[in-house]
Amino acid sequence: MLPISSVDAVVVGAGSSGAATAAFLAERGAQVLLVDRRPLARAGACWVNGVPAALLREAGVVLAAPGDARAELRSAPITTHLIAGKARVVITDHDVLEIDMRHLVARLHDRARQAGVHLVDGVTVHAVTDRGVDTSAGPVAARWVIDASGVAGARLLDQPVVERRDLCAAAQEVRHVLDPAAARAFFAAHQVPEDEVMTLTGVLGGYSIINVRLHHDAREVSVLTGTIPDGVRRGGKALLNQFVAQQPWIGARIFGGAGAIPLRRAYDRIAHGKVALVGDAACQVFPGHGSGVGSGLVAARLLADTLTRGDDLRAYEHAWHRRAGGLHAAFGVIRRWNQELRIEQLERLMASGFLDPDLSSAGLDQRQPRVSPRAVLRKARILAGEPALGLALASTVVRASAVRALYARYPRSARAMPAWGRMVAAVVGERPDPPIAA
Ligand SMILES: Cc1cc2nc3c(=O)[nH]c(=O)nc-3n(C[C@H](O)[C@H](O)[C@H](O)COP(=O)(O)OP(=O)(O)OC[C@H]3O[C@@H](n4cnc5c(N)ncnc54)[C@H](O)[C@@H]3O)c2cc1C
Repeated sequence: MLPISSVDAVVVGAGSSGAATAAFLAERGAQVLLVDRRPLARAGACWVNGVPAALLREAGVVLAAPGDARAELRSAPITTHLIAGKARVVITDHDVLEIDMRHLVARLHDRARQAGVHLVDGVTVHAVTDRGVDTSAGPVAARWVIDASGVAGARLLDQPVVERRDLCAAAQEVRHVLDPAAARAFFAAHQVPEDEVMTLTGVLGGYSIINVRLHHDAREVSVLTGTIPDGVRRGGKALLNQFVAQQPWIGARIFGGAGAIPLRRAYDRIAHGKVALVGDAACQVFPGHGSGVGSGLVAARLLADTLTRGDDLRAYEHAWHRRAGGLHAAFGVIRRWNQELRIEQLERLMASGFLDPDLSSAGLDQRQPRVSPRAVLRKARILAGEPALGLALASTVVRASAVRALYARYPRSARAMPAWGRMVAAVVGERPDPPIAA
């Protein structure tokens, strides 16, 4: 039974993107229903995610004050050792916070509730209707339908299914440490101080990682794994299980989870008629490392601001693509190239200084790298010494720059979209998104 049958907005999915959208809309005076097919306590991500502080600020999401029992902040930005074979890049200057998503999602639910949102769990949305949506608990009339139901959700704009080569299989778990001395020895063997982050990259080839971090005086460990499985390569959960099995000092799981992350560029159309997509449902994920929390929150803010100004959903689509679409699409081109690399090639790129702390911290922070003319010259010289790798990388950088320039001209008019979409698809070497059925 739904508490209300007619609202300004129905938001489908109470993960971080949907909960934030509902809260922001209600704080601006809209009447909002937020539904999730799962129990609210299990809606959205329930593991630890890295989120740049700048994106939280941009979205207007404030974390708990220190001392709050449900504080979501597990760690301020800390030095990260990116390791491929014998090469390493040490990233000291970045902006990424470690967030316990169980608490962040609960905080966003509380914020939504305080703003007057009706939150209902155990309700699945099946389809959009002329008046609103059909749900497992009956119809709801709504002026706007916000689909924040994730990558395997309600698919209310009927956009193409994300291809397998564009899906990262990730797993993240916080576990007990059975033997702190052995945990410390593991970090020492990799020359990583025990209070810093160890990121072993290229473990199953390009775009695969095992990220390890000790907490609470080496009594807890968090492990994050991610790969793009292709039939030969295992998925993130299998990689995590294998890693844990090889480390007898790691004990039972405290919490965590696994899932698929869409890495393709955000759909060209993320709004149509009364429906808008937000978060993973829109593929608003930074593809450099499969991070969707920050950009989903920023999208929620843009959507709420757009509708409050009295603009339509097309203005949201335009604002998001101009804000983040080009950055994501450019890093998407780089991700596709990286995906094909072998660990020896990654090792050479790092050892040669091509992949340096500045480039790496820009990637972590989800921003465009600022490369000085001097650094460009230095990197060009490095690539000249690596002709095969250099040529492929040079063409990747050119295509990434071209696609970014195209997104700076994301069309205002929906009629110009098909031609723009074809140009983008040609540059990134993907199929254009089909037009949305009227
Ligand atoms: C292991 C792992 C590690 C990750 N690490 C990071 C990281 O470090 N940093 C980062 O930024 N991102 C990370 N991500 C990605 C990040 O978790 C997602 O981008 C983010 O959670 C997406 O939020 P969302 O609200 O858009 O979607 P979701 O969290 O998927 O929420 C969608 C909600 O919609 C509900 N739903 C689905 N269908 C329906 C329906 N038909 N009707 C009603 N409800 C429905 C679901 O039950 C779910 O609660 C990681 C992902 C994984 C799997």
